[in-house]
Amino acid sequence: MRIIDKLDSKEAVKKALEIEIDNQYIDIDGKKMNFSKFIQGEIKKILKLLPKNKTWLKLFNDFSNYKIYEVSTRINLVNEFMEALIQEYQEPVLTRKPFYKNDLTTDITYLKGVGPNIAKILNKMGIFTANDLLNHFPRKYLDYSQRTNISQISDGDNVTIFGTIASVSIFQSAKRKNLSILKIIVKDGTGSVSTTWFYQNINRRTQEHYKAQYPKGSNVILSGIAKYDKFSNCYTIEKQEATVINADFDETETIHNARIVPVYTLSENLGSKTLRRIIFNALNAYYDLIEQVLPEKMLDAYNLLKRKDAIKQIHFPDNYEVLEQARFSLAFEELFLMQLKFMVLREEAKRKKFKEPITIKENGLVDRFVKSLPFKLTNAQNNAFNEILSDLSSTEPMQRLLQGDVGSGKTVVACMTLLAVVENGYQGALMAPTEILAEQHYRNFINWLTPLGLHVGLFTGKLGAKTKRIMNEDLINGQTHIAIGTHALIQSGVEFNNLGAVVVDEQHRFGVKQRKELLEKGQNPQMLTMTATPIPRTLALSVHGDLDLTVIDELPAGRLPIITTFTSGAMRKNAYELIRNEIAKGNKAYIVFPLIDESETLSAKAATKEAERLKEKVFPDLKIGLLHGKLTNQEKDDVMDKFKNGDTDILVCTTVVEVGVDVPNATVMIIENAERFGLSQLHQLRGRVGRSSKQSYCILISDTRTPETRQRLDVMTQTNNGFVIAQKDFELRGPGEFLGTRQSGVSDLLIADLVHDVKTLEMARDAAIKFSNEENLDDYPKLKTIIMSKIDEVKSYLNAG
Ligand code: ADP
Ligand code: MG
Repeated sequence: MRIIDKLDSKEAVKKALEIEIDNQYIDIDGKKMNFSKFIQGEIKKILKLLPKNKTWLKLFNDFSNYKIYEVSTRINLVNEFMEALIQEYQEPVLTRKPFYKNDLTTDITYLKGVGPNIAKILNKMGIFTANDLLNHFPRKYLDYSQRTNISQISDGDNVTIFGTIASVSIFQSAKRKNLSILKIIVKDGTGSVSTTWFYQNINRRTQEHYKAQYPKGSNVILSGIAKYDKFSNCYTIEKQEATVINADFDETETIHNARIVPVYTLSENLGSKTLRRIIFNALNAYYDLIEQVLPEKMLDAYNLLKRKDAIKQIHFPDNYEVLEQARFSLAFEELFLMQLKFMVLREEAKRKKFKEPITIKENGLVDRFVKSLPFKLTNAQNNAFNEILSDLSSTEPMQRLLQGDVGSGKTVVACMTLLAVVENGYQGALMAPTEILAEQHYRNFINWLTPLGLHVGLFTGKLGAKTKRIMNEDLINGQTHIAIGTHALIQSGVEFNNLGAVVVDEQHRFGVKQRKELLEKGQNPQMLTMTATPIPRTLALSVHGDLDLTVIDELPAGRLPIITTFTSGAMRKNAYELIRNEIAKGNKAYIVFPLIDESETLSAKAATKEAERLKEKVFPDLKIGLLHGKLTNQEKDDVMDKFKNGDTDILVCTTVVEVGVDVPNATVMIIENAERFGLSQLHQLRGRVGRSSKQSYCILISDTRTPETRQRLDVMTQTNNGFVIAQKDFELRGPGEFLGTRQSGVSDLLIADLVHDVKTLEMARDAAIKFSNEENLDDYPKLKTIIMSKIDEVKSYLNAG
C-alpha cells in the first residue's frame, strides 16, 4: 500500500504546505488545528505503516518543536518533510520554491539565529532586513586578539587565554541558597586561572545543563579582566567571555574571542553574544550579495576597500589597520553619496533660468544707497556683494548662503542685493523669522530707501484686513518695490508683480519648505539666504551642499571685542555696578533670562518678577523695560521702541532678543543661568551688544560648577569669534543638537562623523565634483539608483504638507 493512500488527502497536505509557506512559516492556525499539529498527525499515519523509519520518526519529533523553532529552522524542516514525501510519492509535492528571498532585503526572521522574540527586539532597534543588520555597525571593539600566557598575567589586565578546562563544578552558594555558582579552572601549561558564573533560582537539571557547556578536558578561549585572588593565590577572570572550541579550531568559533571583537549598541533582552553571532552568520550568508556602490576605479584612487570587505571588516576586523581602512571606506562612501546628491541637485537647479542677467549701473540705486550710508563698507561686505553680483549677472538664478558673524553687517549686503534687482525692474522680498526683526529691517529700509524714491512694504501677521488689502494691491501692481515681512509674506493672497530676488534672514530659523514657498512667489527668483550662526564648514557642506557659500569674515572697523566674564550669583552686585556706570555714560543694558522648562509662559513670569525686583530694590532710579514672548506684538514694538529710541535704560528680557536685534548704544548684557544656553545661542545673545565703536561687556552668571559647564562658558570668555565658538559648540554637542532640527542628509549618516571626518568629507566632496564633471551617472546604474532615491527623499520632504 502506498503511503499516499494513508494520508487524509494529498491535496489537503499540499494545501496546508502552501498556506504555511505563503504565510512565512508562522505555524498557521487551521480550522481544527495548527499547521504543525496537522503535519504531525499525517506523519503519525505514515509511521503506522513504517514504524521504526528513522526519517519519519525524526520528522515527527521535529514537528513537535516546530512552534518554538526559529523561521530558518522551520524552513529547513518543511523542506525536509517535502523531500521525504517526494521519496514516498515518487512525484513532486509542490513545484514552487519556499517563500524565501535570498537577497539583502530578506526579512531578519529568515536569518540564522533570529527567532520571533529576537526579531521583535531587533525591529524595535530599527532593524528589519539583512541589510539593516549588516549596517548596524559596532559601537566599539575589544581586543581579544592577543594571546596571554597565564604566567604573565598581572592584576587588572585585559587577557585572552587559550587553555584547557582542568575542572568544572557547580554548587549552591553557602550564603544564598537560591544562588548557584558555576566554576571552571583553565590551564595553559604556564599556570591556571579560574572563572565563575552566577545563576539565580535554577533547578538541578538546569545546573547540569550549564555545567555540560564546559566539558572537562576541552579547549577553551577565555577572555576578560584578571583579578588576583589572595585566598586561592591565583587569578580569577571577571567580565569573562568563554568559548569552548573543537580541536580542529574552526574560525566560526572565534566570534567572541581571540580576535578584535565588535561591541554593539544593544537593547534590553538581547545579549551581546547573541547579536554578534547573528551578525556573524548574516555576514557569512550575505557577503557575496553585498553590492559594490562606488565605481571600481575609485577604490584604488582613494585607497578604499570593496564595499563587501569594508562591511565584513567593520564587524569582524582582521586587525586595526584594516579596521581603520574599512571605517574610512564606509565613511567616504556615505559622504560621497551625500555630496554627489548635492551636485545633481545643483545641476538641476542650474537648468532653471532667470529671465535676464542683472547688471547695475554707475550711479544707479545700489551706488546711491552705498554713498548715502554714514560708514564705509568693509572689504568683506564689498567682496560678498561682488560674489553676489557675479551670480546675478548670469542666467542661472543665484543660490547663495551668506554667513557672517553677528554684527558683521549682513543687512546692508541684503539691501544692496535687493536694490540690484529693483534697479533692473524687479521687486524684492526680505523674510525674517520674528516680528521684532522684520520691523527693525523695515525701519532701516524706510530710512535708507525713501530718499531714493522707493516704496517698502511691511507684511506681518498683525495687519488689519483693510491695510492688508491695500498692501496686497500695491504689491501686485508693482507699486511696492521691496516687501519685508515674517512668514506672513508666504501666505496666499500675497502676490508680487515681478519678484526678482528673495533674501531669507536668519535662514536656519525657517524650514526648507518656507523658503521654497517664498521662491515660488516669483519665476525662479534669485535667492540669498543669510545666517549669523556660523556653521562649521563640514556642516555647511553637509546641510547646504547645494548652495554657494559666501563668508563675511570681518567686523566693521573700530569694533572692540566684547569683554566677557563668567561669575557666580554672589558677585551679581558687581555686574549691577557695571550697568550703572555704563548707563551714567548714556549707554543701555540687557538682562537676559533663559527659557524655563521650554515654557515661554514660565520664563515670562520669571522675567516679570525679576524686572519688578530690579525696579524696587536695585535700580529704583532707572527706567526698566520688559520684553518677553507673552506680550502682544504691539506691546513688543512699544517696548523695543522705548529701548532703542526712548528713555528705557535696562531691558529685562527672555531669549526673544536673541535674533538680529540691533540697538547700537547697548553696551552691557547680563545673562542669568548662563549654563542653560548652548554656546552658539550665547554668542547670538552677546551679539546684541558690541554693535558700535564703544567698549561693550557681557557677564555670564551661573552657579553651576560642573567642569563641563566651566569649560563651555570659558570658551565664551576667551573668544569673540563666532566660527571658533560654533566649531566648539558643534564638537561638544554633535551635529544633531547643534542644528536643533532634523536636517535631511545629516541625520542619516550611519558612520561618518562630521566632527572628526573633516578630511574625509573634503576628499569625498572633491571626488563628487570630479565625478560629476567627468562621468555620466547613467553609466553607473547602482550608484544612480541610490542617488535618485536620495533626491526623491529630499523632494518629497520639500513637497510634503
Ligand atoms: P548682522 O550681520 O548681525 O545682521 P547688521 O546688519 O544688523 O548685522 O549690522 C550691525 C550694525 O552694524 C548695524 O547697526 C549696521 O548699521 C552697522 N554696520 C553695518 N555695516 C557697517 C560698516 N561697514 N561700518 C560700520 N557699521 C556698519
Ligand atoms: Mg542680522
